[in-house]
Amino acid sequence: MSSPFSVQHNVDLTTQNTMRLSCMANSVVKIHDQAGVEPAIAHAKTISNIKEMPLFVLSGGSNVLLPSRLHACVVMPEMTGIDVVSESDEHIDIAVMAGENWHDLVVKTVQKGWYGLENLALIPGKVGASPMQNIGAYGVELADFLTSVRAYHLPTDTWHTLMKAECKFAYRDSIFKRQASEWLITQVNFRLHKDPTRTVMNYGDVQTKASDIAQQHHRQAPTPIDVMNAIINIRSTKLPNPEVLPNCGSFFKNPVIPTSQFKDLQRKFADIKGYPVDEELVNNSTKVAGGWLIDQAGLKGQGIEPIMTHVNQALVLVNHAPASQPATQADILATQDLIIDTVFDKFGIMLEREPVWVR
Ligand SMILES: Cc1cc2nc3c(=O)[nH]c(=O)nc-3n(C[C@H](O)[C@H](O)[C@H](O)COP(=O)(O)OP(=O)(O)OC[C@H]3O[C@@H](n4cnc5c(N)ncnc54)[C@H](O)[C@@H]3O)c2cc1C
Repeated sequence: MSSPFSVQHNVDLTTQNTMRLSCMANSVVKIHDQAGVEPAIAHAKTISNIKEMPLFVLSGGSNVLLPSRLHACVVMPEMTGIDVVSESDEHIDIAVMAGENWHDLVVKTVQKGWYGLENLALIPGKVGASPMQNIGAYGVELADFLTSVRAYHLPTDTWHTLMKAECKFAYRDSIFKRQASEWLITQVNFRLHKDPTRTVMNYGDVQTKASDIAQQHHRQAPTPIDVMNAIINIRSTKLPNPEVLPNCGSFFKNPVIPTSQFKDLQRKFADIKGYPVDEELVNNSTKVAGGWLIDQAGLKGQGIEPIMTHVNQALVLVNHAPASQPATQADILATQDLIIDTVFDKFGIMLEREPVWVR
């Protein structure tokens, strides 16, 4: 029987983070299957005690900014599997292991006629990381279809099933993000629906693109598959592919400000873009399009080499460093601070970083 986990020391993680920051990790423990979780963590804790370094969980590396020397025992959950838990005419409940690729899960479920995740197509990374920042795109977020999370609490070595309400999901936030490094998410449970007429298309040009695709297939109205393909199409043209131009998606959160402040700004900047925030969560607040702020501050396509804002989407920072001379966290900080200071001076809004800064 093959080992349920494996261990390596002095591991180069430069190609395992989509920002391609130079990074060497002291030790890496890969968990290959569910039975390996407890022995792998016990082993990782022994390494971390001997070498006096923390544990750090890493999945697809698409939302982290890694240091040149990661003095940590890195735990990589790689266990895969998608199980049907229960099914009715209307719904299906599935349990998905942490190491499954997120986009592949979206495609598989939509193709099987299990709908809900289609708007989250083409988000890089793995399923286990998806609850961390409650991934979201095009009017849908993970919390809309997640039912519970199975996770191992690292400080106490105990298993927990956290129901959705206990995960304390908010905009790009969750209990897992707030209690950083405490949890290893091993499985995410979803309830998906089977109604092909139920779609979310009220964001950007999704409706137009999805309707075009539906028409090409002689369908009267777009199905969830059409929505998924529209979103894949939109994202592929708008966002840089990290394989070609390293990045970690949106570098800043869209700032949420008091609606009174937004109205003041609207008097000065008539075309400022903002959306009312879900009132139950934050009363009288408006979410401002961060990309618009950066663009209007004159920083689209700008920055401090090798880290620049993307020419099509100013909210995304891209890394132009050649593989022979990889960029570091210091390069990120230089451009990040330039953007934060310039946007604050012009609009009085403080941008907040979205990806996780790893020490
Ligand atoms: C081109 C591009 C587009 C993107 N678009 C979007 C988007 O539209 N919407 C969006 O929300 N995000 C987006 N992102 C960000 C990113 O893809 C998501 O946050 C994704 O869920 C990160 O997954 P990952 O496996 O790469 O996590 P990683 O980067 O490996 O980890 C992210 C964080 O989660 C923790 N973590 C990872 N796995 C686990 C686990 N199993 N248990 C506990 N903690 C864990 C890590 O410690 C780290 O703190 C984009 C990124 C890129 C590069």
